[in-house]
Order: sequence, then structure tokens, then C-alpha cells
Amino acid sequence: MKKQLTYLLILFYFISFTETSFAQSEKESETTYIKAGKLFDSGNGKILNNYIIKIEKNKVTEVGKNISIPEDAKIIDLTDYTVLPGLIDGHTHLMTLDDLNDDQPMAEKLLFEGDALRVLRGSKRAKSWLENGFTTVRDLGDSGSFLDVALKKAIDEGTVVGPRMFVSGPIIISEGGQVPGLLKSHRDVIDDEYTIVKNVDDAINAVRIHVNYGADIIKICANNTPNNTSLTIDEMKAIVKMAHRYNKKVTAHATNDLAVWEAVTAGVDGIEHGYQISDTTLTLMAKKGVVLVPTDISKPLFYKLLDIIDYQKDKDPAIKRAKNRYQDRLQRAIKAGVTIVTGSDNYIDFEMPQGKAAKNILIAYEEEGMKPLDILRSSTYLSAKFMDKEEELGIIKEGAFADMIAVKGDIINDFSKTIFDVVFVMKNGEIYVEKQNLNN
Ligand SMILES: [Zn+2]
Repeated sequence: MKKQLTYLLILFYFISFTETSFAQSEKESETTYIKAGKLFDSGNGKILNNYIIKIEKNKVTEVGKNISIPEDAKIIDLTDYTVLPGLIDGHTHLMTLDDLNDDQPMAEKLLFEGDALRVLRGSKRAKSWLENGFTTVRDLGDSGSFLDVALKKAIDEGTVVGPRMFVSGPIIISEGGQVPGLLKSHRDVIDDEYTIVKNVDDAINAVRIHVNYGADIIKICANNTPNNTSLTIDEMKAIVKMAHRYNKKVTAHATNDLAVWEAVTAGVDGIEHGYQISDTTLTLMAKKGVVLVPTDISKPLFYKLLDIIDYQKDKDPAIKRAKNRYQDRLQRAIKAGVTIVTGSDNYIDFEMPQGKAAKNILIAYEEEGMKPLDILRSSTYLSAKFMDKEEELGIIKEGAFADMIAVKGDIINDFSKTIFDVVFVMKNGEIYVEKQNLNN
């Protein structure tokens, strides 16, 4: 032990005496200037023309029109494109992918996949989110026993490539989890997948366990769809109180109006899904500043889904009915003044890269009447604000992390095509996608 301490002290002195000389010589080579033809100002929801972004190491240090660029500086020329803050997917399950034609995808995952294979597959999916322009995700459970914390660490240390992750660990939930039909004698299989709480004391300790093992946010199920049990308001109140004590936000899976109302009454910060919410509950959400993460399906993905399951009836009316319900709920939420935060909830195999399938959530919102710049705000600044990170994520300004993407096309008038045409992805100052020669 003593030997280790001596070694650490030597290392500390070595670093403190050598850092300044390294920093000086590397400084200029680590400065990059991005010329943005158009720049999305996510804080104000506006497009700005001909801006320059100065990046030093992993941070943005200056944004403006009149920044002088030294002659030998490294320049990335994005004058033909629109530069946006890196997108944030507020609801992912990187460690889960269900085959629609598998009768028991849960059993497949919980009984046969195993942790090692599951994280390896998750790391491939993580890369696909980044390559599609999501530089940050909020991963909300279905990730075994803190496998999300492991993947986050691997990404942060550079072992695998992926977006920044904010993770919840297992979902905190009442008896039965979300596994319908599970025999009581096999209930132990859900103990690693969920944190099951039986009473208020359990709920309090569940939060301590999650904080201890590295959760950034607490995810609960106000109701356990597709199972029909639920947490009580008192259990949820105890979770919220404990989570807020550790400065963690609480977000609740809640599908019907009662579950949403109970979760909001208990004091949660976010509602996931909220497929059926009454105007009264939406008004309460707006009053308490609770955000809504609508995890809706776009029309192209709906058609794809019905193709995969070989749906025999007429697809159009089925899709129209579902889309009308989504749209009605989304528009009423916006009218009530509820903040919308983007979340794909993509855990289905749509036979395409999962990050691309996830991108469809932006298209879904456009189909339901949201304006492109509002969708982009929900996918950047407002999502970061929900995590109290709006000074450094979801925004391009001095002091923020150098997380940004560039898209080709007219983002306002041709949104659905342009948002998929990503030519450039930078995360933490490093370039991960560069489709054309953008160096000058
Ligand atoms: Zn989900």
C-alpha cells in the first residue's frame, strides 16, 4: 500500500512539472476553425448565416462572425452545410434489440444472450447512433445489471466508439417488471434486469443502490406496461425525494393518464411515452415543469414494421389511426405548454442501422405537426436542459463541448431528407464522420 502511494506521488509530481511545457507546444496544433455556412442557434431556435466556430482541444472557445483565422490554422470548411449541435436521443436501450418475429424476445435476451455478448452488441449499436449524428444518448434501462454503466465507461475511455451516455441502470419497478407471463418460480431472472421494489423502504434503498453503481438518472415505471401492476404514489414520492437529494432527475415510463398523473403528482421530472394523457394532466405537467418524451413511430418505420410482421390487412388505415392519436396528444401537450424532449425508444430490429432507425423519431414529430427548428431544439438544447447540461451540451457556444454535426440540404424546407444526410460528426473535438473532403 505504502509503495503504491509513493508511486502515485512521484507520478503526481511528474505530471505537475511537465504539463505546462506540453500544453504550450500542443496548443496551436489543437486549435481548429469551422466555417459554418449555416449554424443552428439551439438556445434561441434560429438559423444564423456564415459563422465561425473556434475549437481548442475538446471545447468550443469562440463563436462569431468576425473571428480572425491565422494563416496556417486547421480549417474545416462547412460553408455548404448546416452545422447543428450534436443531436441527443433522450430515450434509448442500447443493450436491447427485439426481433419482431420472435415470440419471446424477452426470454431470448434474459436467458440466452448473456452479459458479454449483450454489451458487445450494444457497443455496435452505440457506434451507429454516433454515426447518425447523435453525440449523446440517455439510456433508460433494459440493460441488465448496470451493463449501461460498463458501456459508458468503455466509450469514455476510448475502448469503443459511441455517443456520450447518461445512464439509468436497471428500471426501478414493482413486482413482475415488464415481463408478461413469467412463472413465479422463475422470477429470479428479472432481478438482474430490474430493481424490484416492494415498499417505500425498498424504493429509498433502490435509489441509493443506483447512485452507488453509477446511474446518472433514475428511471421508474409508473405502470409496468405490458404487465398491469404499478408503483404506488408513496413509493414514487420516496424515489423522487431520494434521487433529488443526490441531484439526480427521475423520469417515468407512464403510458395511460392515471400513471402519468400519479407520477407527476409524486414529483417526477420527466414522462416517457405518455400515449394517453388528458388535458388536465398536461396542464399539471406544464405547471410543474415536467417534460414529455414522446416515443412515437414515423410513417416509414410503421410501414417497415408491418412489412416485417407480414401484416395482411390494409396498412394505411391502421397507420393513420395510430398517427392521429400520436398527433392529437403531441399537439395538446405543446398547446398546454409542456416541454417536448426527443426520445426514440428504438429497441426494435427494423433491418437497418439502429441509429438510423432512431433518427426517425425526428420525422415522426414533423409528421405530427412540429416545425423543423422546434424539433431540432427538442433534440439538442431542451434535452440538455432537462439534464442541467445546457451550458455544455446541445448547444454551440463558448465553453460547450465540441459536439457538432453538419447536414447537407435545406433543413427548414426539406427537413426529412436533410436530417438524414449527415456529412460530418464531431464529438469531444474528435471527428467520427467526414463524408467529403472538408479540409481547407
Ligand atoms: Zn423505452
